[in-house]
This record gives sequence, structure tokens and C-alpha cells, in this order.
Amino acid sequence: MSTNTHYIDGRFVEDRISGRIAVYNPASEEQIAEIPDGPAEVVDAAVDAARKAQPAWSELPPIERAGYVKAIAEKIRAKVDILAETISREQGKVVSLARGEVLGMAGLMDYMAEWARRIEGEIIASDRKGETIYLNRVPIGVVAGILPWNFPFYLIGRKLAPALVAGNTIVIKPSEETPLNAFLFAELADEVGLPKGVFNMVSGRGRTTGAALSGHPGIDLVSFTGSVPTGVAIMEAAAKNLTRVNLELGGKAPAIVLKDADLDLAVEAITASRVINTGQVCNCAERIFVERQVADEFTDRFVKRMAAVTYGDPIAEPTVDMGPLVNALQLDKVEAMVERAREAGASVALGGKRAERNCGHHYEPTVLTGCTPDMEIMRKEIFGPVAPIAVVEDADEAVHYANDTEYGLTSSLYTQDLNKAMRVTRRLQFGETYINRENGEAYQGFHAGRKKSGIGGADGKHGFYEYMETQAVYIQH
Ligand code: NAD
Repeated sequence: MSTNTHYIDGRFVEDRISGRIAVYNPASEEQIAEIPDGPAEVVDAAVDAARKAQPAWSELPPIERAGYVKAIAEKIRAKVDILAETISREQGKVVSLARGEVLGMAGLMDYMAEWARRIEGEIIASDRKGETIYLNRVPIGVVAGILPWNFPFYLIGRKLAPALVAGNTIVIKPSEETPLNAFLFAELADEVGLPKGVFNMVSGRGRTTGAALSGHPGIDLVSFTGSVPTGVAIMEAAAKNLTRVNLELGGKAPAIVLKDADLDLAVEAITASRVINTGQVCNCAERIFVERQVADEFTDRFVKRMAAVTYGDPIAEPTVDMGPLVNALQLDKVEAMVERAREAGASVALGGKRAERNCGHHYEPTVLTGCTPDMEIMRKEIFGPVAPIAVVEDADEAVHYANDTEYGLTSSLYTQDLNKAMRVTRRLQFGETYINRENGEAYQGFHAGRKKSGIGGADGKHGFYEYMETQAVYIQH
């Protein structure tokens, strides 16, 4: 597979003019590929192809559009091994998680294909005599999908499947950190014979290719997943053309452990949440609030469980629980945040340093105790295997501190008292709340951030309709 290309108008287009971006394996620190840094001309060509293809694509019956989406999902399942290994090699996640990402994405494509038979409008009684009003669902047009590195493959499907089933065409830009899985995706989309221009991929950096795409007047919706500062930059660029945006941004999920929680369950779930993808998940538990009566017991058990977490090169050591962080920058950031937490008065109960290994951006599983809600480590996204714990007096205090954040993506709550769970949940200002389990969205749910965690959402009925407009029709007869 040549990665010196973009995929535009149904073919891989060789790029001889752009600068190059090196792609590294974060476990070995070896360079594994080079990709082009597509300039504005490349973006123009991709958007142009998508615009030309959109009218005919939108006129196909939705079930036919869904057929293509399902055909890609079938191809993905057949290629799960190579896809999972590619993701693991470029991003650093363990291969079992990468397989889950690939198969989960194929399942999501199938789920979104089912919406082809459920696109519904409304007929409304009019105030005027002899008039019928109906509301019709129509595609938005051309979607730009700008993707992050942490679940790079899953996010392709999360944007592409609803966009295409709804009758839009799409241009995606993978993260320059993890582009290789997107090249494989483009090969599979090519194999199923999607009409030319329906799916396009441009390769490049955020500040070049990404900026050109989000500010392009030919784009009707920018669907972005990534960090808050980039979300702001994209919204500013889109605002020039009044382009719609769907933004899934960062998080700082609180995990609240109340005194009547099943502590075995809480320890297991929160550990898994801190370890999955080496803590680089937008909706995993980033700060723990535990009620004083069970704080010591929870902390003892949690530290023991985190101490048993293994890490290493996910390809060379396939049984490890977690791989490296995605790059040196991320490792430096995590290291500096833990250092500042220590200076601010937190105690390191476990880990607290980068791993002593010959290569790879590894950070030790870390537990910080004695944290207070005002500390940076309790307020800013860490994106690493670091669990800061603060003790609270009761559920009210936990809710107060949980909500005292600029983020609003995910929260979790551990209690065996269902009434209390319902009362507390109503007051949590987050798009998602998990009770007695940790993050992991369902296809039919709705993944959406409040506050600075985003605008709009993904998955389920509401996520599907984010890719459609409502047209009102008034008929005098
Ligand atoms: P990022 O914001 O650095 O980059 C994401 C994408 O945006 C990349 O493709 C990048 O090239 C592009 N980009 C960067 N600058 C741009 C610009 N000026 N214009 C247009 N595009 C630009 O994010 P990341 O580091 O890849 O991902 C990690 C972040 O994503 C974390 O904050 C995480 O919480 C968030 N995230 C959120 C969700 C969610 O569902 N809410 C899911 C996954 C990740």
C-alpha cells in the first residue's frame, strides 16, 4: 500500500508536491511510514469530487446507500487482523483493544445501515384551509470528518456511516499521528465500488489540511472529534461560511464512589477505565471522588489492583494490559502534570514516573492520593494512566465538585441504592452518566458532550439525524 497518496474521486492520487510527515511506532520509536501533508489544492479537489457526487448519491434509495456501508463492514471484518495490527503499531494500543475497535466499528456501520428504513418525517395539521404541511428529512450535503488519534478507525465509521446512509458525501482527514488505518479503510471502500466521490480522504496536518477543510466553503457540516482548542479553531474557521459543526471534544470524567458502593466492582471498573488505551480515552474516569467512610478501603484495594497492571510493547509482548502513550509530547505532558500535582500537595501512592525501558513512551500506572478539587490534575485532561483521588464528605459534595468543571462529557457513579443513583444522576451536568460501570457507549445511545465537551452528538437515532436537515413543505390543494 502506498501511503504517498490521497483518495479522491474514486482513486488513489499520488502526491508529488506536498511536504511529508513521518509516522512513528510509539512502542519502538521507529519510523514506520511517511504521508503527504496535503495543501489547499488537494482539499479543493476532494471537496469538489464530493460535491459533484452528492446529488446522485442522495437520489439512491437509502437502502442502496446502506448496502454499500454494510459491504464495507463485511470487508472490515475479513481484514480485522491486519487492521488491528496497523492500529496497534501506529497508536500503541494493545492488539485485543484494537480488534475490539475494528469489530466495534463494523458493528456500528451495520447499525447505522439499519436507519435506511427508519428515516421518518412528519405530517402536521395546518391552520389554513386546504393545506397540508409536512416535514421531510433531507441530507445536509458534503461532510468533512476530522479525526483524532485515540480511536482513529472507530471514528471513521462513526462519522462516515450516518453521513452516507443519510445521503451525504464525505471527505475525511485522519490524524497525522495515526493515518495508516485510514489508508486501509480507503482500500476497502474502493473495493466495494462506492460511486466515485462519495468517500474521499485527504492526508495531512491539522494546521494545513485540516484548516483548509474546515474553512472550505464547499463543506456543509464539519464533524470533528478531538481536543477543545482544535474544536474552537474549527468552529472559528467554519463560522466564516456559517458551516454547521458537530464537535466531540475532551472530557474530565468524574467517577463517584459512594459509601454504599460495591467496592469490588468499583475498583475493577475504574482500573479498567484508567488502563484502557493507556488512559487516552475522552470518556474514561479522569478523577475519582470517594466518600470518606470507604475512602481508605477503596484506595488500598485500588492501588493494589493498579499495581498489577502490566505494560509494554503491544506487538512484541501481546499479553500486556496497556501499551505506550501515543508520542513523546503526550508522555512529557503526563509527566509534567504529575510533577505539578506532587508540588501542589498530592501523594504518589503508586507509580508517578515514566517507565525505565530502552524505548517506547511508557508511563507507569499511577495513583495520586490527597488530591483536592482545585488542583490542575483534577481539572485538566490528563490522557494517561494516572488516577487522582479526592475524598468527599457526602454525595452532595461529590456532585458539587464533579460539576465544577468546564467539561461535560461523561460521569460515573457507584452505589447500590437505586433511588440515590437516580437523584444524583439528575444533578450531574454531563452528556453521559454510567451507573455501576465505566465508559463504553452503545450504538443506540447518544454520545454528546455538554459545556466545552462539544456541540451535537453521535450514535443512535439522534446521532443519525445530526447528518440530516429538516425541510418544511406547505401544499395548498
Ligand atoms: P487534536 O485536536 O489535536 O487533533 C484532532 C484532529 O484535528 C487531527 O486530525 C488534527 O490534525 C486536526 N487538527 C488540528 N488542528 C487543526 C486545525 N486548526 N484545523 C483543523 N483540524 C485540525 O486531538 P487529538 O490529540 O488527536 O485527540 C485527543 C483529543 O480528542 C482529546 O482531548 C480527547 O478527549 C478528544 N476526543 C474526544 C472524543 C469524544 O467523543 N468526545 C473522542 C476521542 C477523542
